[in-house]
Amino acid sequence: MSTPLDAKQEQALHLLQTVFGYPAFRSQQAQIVDHVVNGGDALVLMPTGGGKSLCYQIPALIRQGVGIVVSPLIALMQDQVDALAEVGVRAAFLNSTQSFDEAMRIERLMRAGELDLVYIAPERLMTHRCLELLSVTPLALFAIDEAHCVSQWGHDFRPEYIKLSVLHERFPDVPRIALTATADQQTRDEIIHRLQLEDALQFVSSFDRPNIRYQIVEKANGKKQLLDFIQAQHSGDAGIVYCLSRKKVEEMAEFLNENGITALPYHAGMEQSERYRNQARFLREDSIVMTATIAFGMGIDKPDVRFVAHLDLPKSIEGYYQETGRAGRDGATANAWMAYGLQDVVQQRRMIDESEANEAYKRILGAKLDAMLGLCETLNCRRVHILDYFGQHSKACGNCDTCLSPPISFDGSVAAQKILSTIYRVDQRFAAGHVIDVIRGIDTDRVKQWRHDQLSTYGIGSDKSEAEWRALLRQMIALGLVAVDYENFSSLKLTEESRAVLRGETKVQLRQYKKAEKAVKHKRQSAKDFAEANLDDVEQKIFERLRWWRVETAKAHNTAAFIIFHDSTLREIAKAKPRSLEDLRGVTGVGAKKLESYGEELVSLIAEFL
Ligand code: ADP
Ligand code: ZN
Repeated sequence: MSTPLDAKQEQALHLLQTVFGYPAFRSQQAQIVDHVVNGGDALVLMPTGGGKSLCYQIPALIRQGVGIVVSPLIALMQDQVDALAEVGVRAAFLNSTQSFDEAMRIERLMRAGELDLVYIAPERLMTHRCLELLSVTPLALFAIDEAHCVSQWGHDFRPEYIKLSVLHERFPDVPRIALTATADQQTRDEIIHRLQLEDALQFVSSFDRPNIRYQIVEKANGKKQLLDFIQAQHSGDAGIVYCLSRKKVEEMAEFLNENGITALPYHAGMEQSERYRNQARFLREDSIVMTATIAFGMGIDKPDVRFVAHLDLPKSIEGYYQETGRAGRDGATANAWMAYGLQDVVQQRRMIDESEANEAYKRILGAKLDAMLGLCETLNCRRVHILDYFGQHSKACGNCDTCLSPPISFDGSVAAQKILSTIYRVDQRFAAGHVIDVIRGIDTDRVKQWRHDQLSTYGIGSDKSEAEWRALLRQMIALGLVAVDYENFSSLKLTEESRAVLRGETKVQLRQYKKAEKAVKHKRQSAKDFAEANLDDVEQKIFERLRWWRVETAKAHNTAAFIIFHDSTLREIAKAKPRSLEDLRGVTGVGAKKLESYGEELVSLIAEFL
């Protein structure tokens, strides 16, 4: 920027560099900080890992009084507060996990204005006692994190969030900053409306996460495919595997452990203490795979998650993008991998159909699922498709499966007609398995019992494998050309749209079936290789020594390794080989407090190598 900075902007940059140890603001951070420092309301939409926290942390440091952070994630508050304490920021939290005495102590500090930031769960905030406390506390700002939780249509809906408009009513002069990584227009409108942010300035960042490679494969045997994927590309890496059901979460953890991969389960049906324990291990250790339902992960800011895998179809692109966004927050290469098949489509459609929701809600769920299916079936760049969904136009990325190995599309009209006429000839009373048996001319007992071997379509598709027919049928269901009747044994039905195809009036473009490829070992591209590639032998030794030092230090402080320093910072130290505190000061991620806490130790540790 060419315009000179004013005093507050100077101060913001100074805090960024000295407290957090970062040389410059990223994307829109500077403008957001400036706006909030000057008392404005803001709505911040930034992808996971984009750097939302600094947008309220720095204004809270500059403005008089205490910054209140509303967050639904009480399990993570301790880590957030620890991380801030590490850089010398006075932070605390108020939630149900702490003792009465401890809460009293925090409240006293708040009233005295002796804290910079306090994290509070929304249900706590809404209590009479807490609102009274706020009215006698000098307030710097309100940050409403995970603001999409106000959206009734979203999967993270929290009823208490809706009540947060009270903050505006009771404290009209305190600036509010709402933050989220969910960016579709509907959610955005709901946040503005429900939190009364009509006058807030909106800051919408690019949603692209260029370091994440998207990959959606045909599901054959999901478990085995996942194992191949992890073994080939992510051995020793931290990752998250999402499954739909609690049972499957448990099974997958067991299966991975049997195959030598340390995996822990996480779902809402587990004892809370066990859930916390597993989450803490995942955060603190280097190479744990978490198998989880979507109950896991909101707000998880472990920077070095190298892959996110989906074994079941997410319900929407928002959900998919939020979950995959937990990979690669440190900016190093990461994979988003998903296995998807006919059964997924059938199951998700059924869940909507059978839900208790009203028709309007079902329509919204259906539209969201259709968009997700569109992403799975696309013949074009996945990233272009995703960003387009969030209203952002882009070019083919070169870092997704469809860019790297473009799918072949073909005129599938004849294949589609074979499927449709078979469905018609079996009176729309049979499910996928039987329909495919008839098309392929398999003489099962059921085929014989119903004399379906007499049908004119019996065996007209013997040239294709069962998997191929399943893939074609899946696409037709995704396209709405075939419906599934869940109330009648999942039998397949024709739809309005399918008649035009049967009559040959519309053509159907389909994706050619690709047999599941075995993941190739030498393609391995984990963060460690990435790091190693950039360091010479001595630097690599220093880096390894530094990681050891970090493990010990984290243990001594009873905190997570990444809270001490990120890998990227250790890598930079190994390259810079600082001989003095002054040399070390320039390294990204080394702020004044960390320099003071660890500087001497690090310099003498490096000296051993020089
Ligand atoms: P979000 O909340 O948007 O998911 P975070 O606030 O947790 O993201 O930030 C993601 C990571 O990026 C963190 O490790 C943070 O320290 C780092 N980061 C944020 N802003 C900057 C910056 N200006 N320069 C360097 N690193 C940054
Ligand atoms: Zn692409």
